[in-house]
Amino acid sequence: MSLRPDSLAVHCGRDDLTALGVHALPIDLSSTNPLPDIERGGDSYEAMATGGHPLPEGGNVYSRLWNPTVARFESALAQLEQADEAVAFASGMAAMTAAILAHTGQSGQRHVVAVRPLYGGTDHLLDSGLLGVEVTFCDEDQVAASVRPDTALVILETPGNPTLDLVDIRNVVGQAGGVPVLVDNTFATPILQNPIALGASMALHSATKYLGGHGDVTAGAIACGSETAAALRRVRAVTGGLLHPLGAYLLHRGLTTLPIRIRAQQANAQQLAAWLAQHPAVDRVHHPGSDGDPRGLLETQMRGTGAMVAIALRGGYAAAEAMTSTVRLFTHAVSLGGVDSLVQHPAALTHRPVAPRARPSANLVRLSIGLEDVEDLRDDLDRALAGQTSASRMMPVATRTSTLTTSSAT
Ligand SMILES: *Cc1c(COP(=O)(O)O)cnc(C)c1O
Repeated sequence: MSLRPDSLAVHCGRDDLTALGVHALPIDLSSTNPLPDIERGGDSYEAMATGGHPLPEGGNVYSRLWNPTVARFESALAQLEQADEAVAFASGMAAMTAAILAHTGQSGQRHVVAVRPLYGGTDHLLDSGLLGVEVTFCDEDQVAASVRPDTALVILETPGNPTLDLVDIRNVVGQAGGVPVLVDNTFATPILQNPIALGASMALHSATKYLGGHGDVTAGAIACGSETAAALRRVRAVTGGLLHPLGAYLLHRGLTTLPIRIRAQQANAQQLAAWLAQHPAVDRVHHPGSDGDPRGLLETQMRGTGAMVAIALRGGYAAAEAMTSTVRLFTHAVSLGGVDSLVQHPAALTHRPVAPRARPSANLVRLSIGLEDVEDLRDDLDRALAGQTSASRMMPVATRTSTLTTSSAT
């Protein structure tokens, strides 16, 4: 039976529960598994170590190779993303790292094209040289000119973090000319956008955000075709960036409310974006469609605007500092996508490791809108923005060169 997205979110990955005689998702915490015998255990081991599924008669062998609770979540996400399979990781960045390693592993294919803006951690990973790849950062319309014979992967994010810029996925896929395109779909979620249906090879999620939705899991996942999934699982088996089964359980449970959370949080975000656009302390609101959607991407690519809003404050860095330290209902914290509202300053935090010329401006504040009553959220923002219309001093953080080398926040 083919289900509509809301029904699918509730039922995906649960087909066998009745036969198992259970109603809630089972959790398998085994780190190792009894082997039937050397031959069959060894064959199953080999199948998984090279990216395949366990052989039924050989067992799961070892949790770095396969875990049924994680696999169950993966099959659920794959259905929501309209993909053959999905592969889950310990974090969004572990997923991104695996995608880069899986595609640039062969010699002679060490070039990546990355469309900016990107999440700060992704930008930093690509810019750091840690993975031994050469990266060309570019704008959406420069992808074709940036692709070379040794290009292994094109990476984009839409809506982009933190300015909510939209990138035309079909356009980039066309320009990539057969080079696999990875779309970071964290902000849109499978409820609002399905990159694979638009021609992308991979839809990546920081599952830490909307998929989990409650701020209590750190995880990543990539939905993709079977061949790519095998390559990603092989990297995961070798490098060990695993998702713990308890995390997979929470993510799978989180999927059931994903459509309804997205719609309710989006409705709040739309009301707040409209109100903020009129606010005297706000110079500009960034929210998909706030520029009128000149390319019609909200019609052809997305099914909604999502629940992220960024605002440029007239009062500059000082206003951002005052606002983030006076909110009461919003929590001043990085990350996003949970049921409660968060506010953070990208230039100082999530995008701090980004090269200065690509770093967000000092007056930009990013809001992740939650499920609270929109009137309470508005009152909180109004109070925090009170008296902050005057232009003010320069920002001390974004203008100085970051000394960060490896770590980054969400
Ligand atoms: C948070 C985030 C990531 C990184 O995910 P982690 O789970 O923190 O490793 C990647 N992309 C986007 C768009 C994000 O917001």
